[in-house]
Amino acid sequence: MTKSELNKFRNILERKQAELEQFVRNREGIAIEKSPDALDEVQHAAERELAIRNLDRESHLLRNVRAALRRIEEGNFGVCLHCEEDISPKRLAAVPWTAFCIQCQEMADRHHAGDGHFDAEMLSAA
Ligand SMILES: [Zn+2]
Repeated sequence: MTKSELNKFRNILERKQAELEQFVRNREGIAIEKSPDALDEVQHAAERELAIRNLDRESHLLRNVRAALRRIEEGNFGVCLHCEEDISPKRLAAVPWTAFCIQCQEMADRHHAGDGHFDAEMLSAA
């Protein structure tokens, strides 16, 4: 990958990072908001749950974006963390913060297919 390509990705990732940091900050406010009114509680609980789900997803994405920026600094951006093959330019253009090539990503997705159920349990226990 050329220096100008790397710079392009760094710009994209830094913008995404700023956007996500803003989002996560805003969402944290909603997630901890508590209504003194019992009638509002159900509504608020639903909003809170949605906020927590979104926050979870955005925080996860933010971690990925930060890790990708670190890989640019370390000089191994665009290389799959798992099989160490180059990640296709098309995939990087679509998902610049990805750490895996498409094959390894699909493998990981299949492996984590049961996580949705696990998350739902975590939330109802909270
Ligand atoms: Zn791979």
